[in-house]
Amino acid sequence: MTWLTERTFQGRHAVVTGGGTGIGAAIARELSAAGASLSLLGRRADKLRGTADTCTQPSHCQVLPCDVTSEDEVKRTFASATENFGTVNILINAAGSADAIPFHKLDLASFQSVLDTNLKSVFLCSLAVINDMRSQRLGRIINIASTAALTGYAYVSAYAAAKHGVLGLTRSLALEVAEFDITVNALCPGYTDTDIVRSGVERIRQSTGRKQAEAEAVFTSASPQQRLMTPGEIAACALWLCSDAAHGITGQAISISGGEVM
Ligand code: NDP
Repeated sequence: MTWLTERTFQGRHAVVTGGGTGIGAAIARELSAAGASLSLLGRRADKLRGTADTCTQPSHCQVLPCDVTSEDEVKRTFASATENFGTVNILINAAGSADAIPFHKLDLASFQSVLDTNLKSVFLCSLAVINDMRSQRLGRIINIASTAALTGYAYVSAYAAAKHGVLGLTRSLALEVAEFDITVNALCPGYTDTDIVRSGVERIRQSTGRKQAEAEAVFTSASPQQRLMTPGEIAACALWLCSDAAHGITGQAISISGGEVM
């Protein structure tokens, strides 16, 4: 039985932060193929436009450049998203960034910046949609966390702190809004084949002189399947969580990591 059709999300308005690249772009394309109208948020308009152009229904995609760490920009952007496409039914919080920095080299400004991009953004965007979702008694919020929300890794203490925070927010908000038929879940990908990992490979190559394959192995060896996850498999899980079939799943953290044990 196939539950996903081009009409599964017809009439639904989905906002995807980080929709210009990687996991966010993959989720956006799948949502569009399943009938949703899309608002794509990110700082680089050209990347957002690139995603919109490759969606099944480009005319049902709006490109809204926005820095999701700015309260003013988030408020303004969600107001214009709603004005054009109506109440937001689905929020995908995929914007994020990860830099490897040894703890002793962190300063408050860089720590705060990682928290802002990965955690404050989830707070601001969720706040922007929650009242409408409560009124409509309908909503899906999917936070793209990380396996770094479930365990620690060396050199990413700020990122892991932020992603653990995303999971705490997910679990608590899920309980608060369960009675309004809103579900809030976190996806926890392991290393996934996107710009974040590609720039990590490049950084390792440059700083250690390792060959490409050796640098890539730093990432693939984290998974028992000895591979990177793909944006498409994260998107498939996100779509299922957005569907009516997953109505009973809320407050959960789903690891998509090829079996990494936390
Ligand atoms: P990408 O770098 O491709 O995507 C990150 C996206 O976030 C970009 O489109 C970027 O767009 C957007 N973004 C970053 N900062 C801001 C900001 N201040 N305002 C608005 N948008 C912003 O990497 P991924 O697709 O891999 O990352 C998506 C999510 O998945 C992130 O939250 C990441 O932490 C998480 N993740 C990734 C893993 C991986 O191995 N790739 C593993 C686990 C989790 P722009 O720069 O144009 O603003």
